[in-house]
Amino acid sequence: MSNKNLFIIDVISSDKIQFIDITEKVTSLVTSSNAGEGVCHVFTPHTTAALTINENADPDVKTDMIKGLEDVVSEKLGYKHAEGNSPAHIKASIIGASSHIIVEEGKLLLGTWQGIYFCEFDGPRKRKVYVKIIAS
Ligand code: ZN
Repeated sequence: MSNKNLFIIDVISSDKIQFIDITEKVTSLVTSSNAGEGVCHVFTPHTTAALTINENADPDVKTDMIKGLEDVVSEKLGYKHAEGNSPAHIKASIIGASSHIIVEEGKLLLGTWQGIYFCEFDGPRKRKVYVKIIAS
């Protein structure tokens, strides 16, 4: 795409359910955009994937987040959706398709322990994340 400050990150998941840290990729786009100050929107155009911001220090956190989501969303409810992936749709809606981070002095204003995660719920697949950086 040719729109200014609109970028695409290609994500390839290797498991059915997987949290993939895309923080460095988003950070490098923010740096190269020379946005200075503004907002960085990240959005994934999929119905069985999501984006979230959470801890990227202890890998057990993402393992536990997946475990918790598996507990919340039943696999055995007798869903009607013929594709058979209703739990993935539900998890994607719970987490959400987008995140927004303030950009200050050319940097994402993430907390020390925060990372941006692409959340795969119906992999493995090739996915996309759109990143739009709006300078203020
Ligand atoms: Zn489906």
